[in-house]
Amino acid sequence: MNIAENIPLRSCNTFGINAVARYFTSFSSTDELAEGLAFAARADAPSARPPMPTLILGGGSNILLTKDFDGLVLVNAIKGIDLVTETEHHVFVKAGAGENWHGFVQYCLKRNWAGVENLSLIPGSVGASPMQNIGAYGVEIKEVFHELEAWDLHSGKVRMFTLNDCRFGYRDSIFKQEYRGRFVILNVTYRLSKVPKFHIEYGAIREALDEMGVRQLSIQAISRAVVRIRQAKLPDPAQTGNAGSFFKNPVVSAEQFSALQVESPGIVGFKNPDGAVKLAAGWLIEAAGWKGYRKGDAGCHAKQALVLVNYGQATGAEIYALSEEILQSVKRKFGVTLEREVNII
Ligand SMILES: Cc1cc2nc3c(=O)[nH]c(=O)nc-3n(C[C@H](O)[C@H](O)[C@H](O)COP(=O)(O)OP(=O)(O)OC[C@H]3O[C@@H](n4cnc5c(N)ncnc54)[C@H](O)[C@@H]3O)c2cc1C
Repeated sequence: MNIAENIPLRSCNTFGINAVARYFTSFSSTDELAEGLAFAARADAPSARPPMPTLILGGGSNILLTKDFDGLVLVNAIKGIDLVTETEHHVFVKAGAGENWHGFVQYCLKRNWAGVENLSLIPGSVGASPMQNIGAYGVEIKEVFHELEAWDLHSGKVRMFTLNDCRFGYRDSIFKQEYRGRFVILNVTYRLSKVPKFHIEYGAIREALDEMGVRQLSIQAISRAVVRIRQAKLPDPAQTGNAGSFFKNPVVSAEQFSALQVESPGIVGFKNPDGAVKLAAGWLIEAAGWKGYRKGDAGCHAKQALVLVNYGQATGAEIYALSEEILQSVKRKFGVTLEREVNII
């Protein structure tokens, strides 16, 4: 295993932040992971400092590096996609955590395995998909999740997590809460359908399908529609650094929503099954005047206010400072506190 020193991380995060890792490696098996972790423990041994921090990275599309990383960055490169078993209506497919997510979606589309087509083109890795229960266009990963295997950094053993164990919520899971930083996800098994159930209730999908002249609905057509919408709406990280939605959509009570509607009649909210209302964070940020704002190379995207961008040389600290200004101004204007979706490192 090769452990490199003082490695610039610009190409390892979609924000394009040029922080430096003190040590850097990648692992393609649990043995290599164990080797890397042993290095981190050894490197620390001579000093009385607390254990060397480690950072597991997939595609780096949901992180903001606010400073250099004084520890060991380990990029998950565990590959492989296997059909584990199948029933009359389902296939159970296990994918290595280091597989590219969209590559996995395409693998499923080719075989007519349904369930992930609405999640096309989400950047990043298979291993990060359960971290925040990735979701888009009416579908979340929890709907196709079966189980995962993860390495426990406390015990050094592999543990299995079922659907219930993961405690999936809106852009949330146990791995972002009480187990934050404790488990390294090694592989994920998904339960995909042989008989598709189409999710086109999101208006934009219907419109895109119409524009594309699709007459016969299929998971492949839905995927193409989703790709088309995403490419039109979201900045491409290869051109402009970003990590997708920077904030989560905040949830307020029905009473608070009614009060907000009086103050701001155009406010956008969606009713949850429990009666609470999920507000469109992008609308709040735009209404607070941030859409298209730019300070140095840190900015708020001109087409989608929920996306913060790096126009080139912004530091993570500058992006973070901008996010704090936005958060405070939304709080002042609407009395609503935004929560960051992106992992701050
Ligand atoms: C243009 C754009 C659009 C996006 N659209 C969406 C969207 O529609 N829906 C959505 O949900 N997200 C979206 N995202 C966010 C992002 O793509 C997802 O959160 C994705 O799952 C992150 O994967 P990653 O491999 O890049 O994770 P990373 O950024 O590498 O890591 C994210 C976090 O997970 C941890 N982590 C990563 N891999 C592992 C592992 N194997 N084990 C343990 N911990 C791990 C990291 O330490 C970090 O804390 C978007 C991002 C961009 C840039």
